[in-house]
Amino acid sequence: ITDGITIGHPCCSVHNCSEDLPAITARFCNTHKELQNICSIQGCFQPVQQGCLTCSDPEHLYVQTMYEERGKSMLHLTHCLAAHTTIQPSTLLLETGHSKLGQSWTHNEQLIVCPCGIIVAHVTLFGGEAISSVADMLQVVFPMKTSVPDVLFYDNNCHLHCHLAAQGDQHFTGMVQPVNMFHFKSKHSENDAYCGQHCNLLLFPALYNVTTKSWVFNSSAAEQCNVWLKGYDAMVHDLDATCFNFFLDEMIKERN
Ligand SMILES: [Zn+2]
Ligand SMILES: [Zn+2]
Ligand SMILES: [Zn+2]
Repeated sequence: ITDGITIGHPCCSVHNCSEDLPAITARFCNTHKELQNICSIQGCFQPVQQGCLTCSDPEHLYVQTMYEERGKSMLHLTHCLAAHTTIQPSTLLLETGHSKLGQSWTHNEQLIVCPCGIIVAHVTLFGGEAISSVADMLQVVFPMKTSVPDVLFYDNNCHLHCHLAAQGDQHFTGMVQPVNMFHFKSKHSENDAYCGQHCNLLLFPALYNVTTKSWVFNSSAAEQCNVWLKGYDAMVHDLDATCFNFFLDEMIKERN
């Protein structure tokens, strides 16, 4: 079973960059440190003003002010600024988070768990729970065809199956990838042929008991692990990558 859990550690603000930060409060890794001198507003490539995170564009400066004053009431501040300045900040810019003023955190931790509850692997996904990242993880954790599990439960199995097929993958051809009934009913229109053909749980009578409407194996083991691991979220939130991984490794070994 594989599933993602939203715990993470600070990381480089460049999307999907996995290089270590030089300091725990740094916004960028050493490779991307030049970006500190570029305006933090997305799509703006002007150099920053000295001591600022943005360029001299009043609207961009305003976003920084808002960021720094976040402790105070946003609304109050907006009213004050509107009353005393001519700046018309685009609220879109503020609300949709098109800026990288603060630190970034890794997107999630991907777990591979056996139905018995043993955690086989955990991998940090930096930019998102992308299907390709999950496929890469599986390849690393199960490097030989003989080590590939017979069955993989994953709530996005149909897209993973599609991705592997598109890659012309031969490694995982022996692995069946069922999805649960909930996925089937809620994620697709009635007649999603692809999912129905490859991931339909009725295709796997050995895995799913139609009379009792239940899985033969504990397909919720990953969710149960997630609940357990989520309890450490606050503890690991501000650790650097090395300590984060060490802590998780040790806790998982204890649990296993
Ligand atoms: Zn980087
Ligand atoms: Zn700017
Ligand atoms: Zn599906």
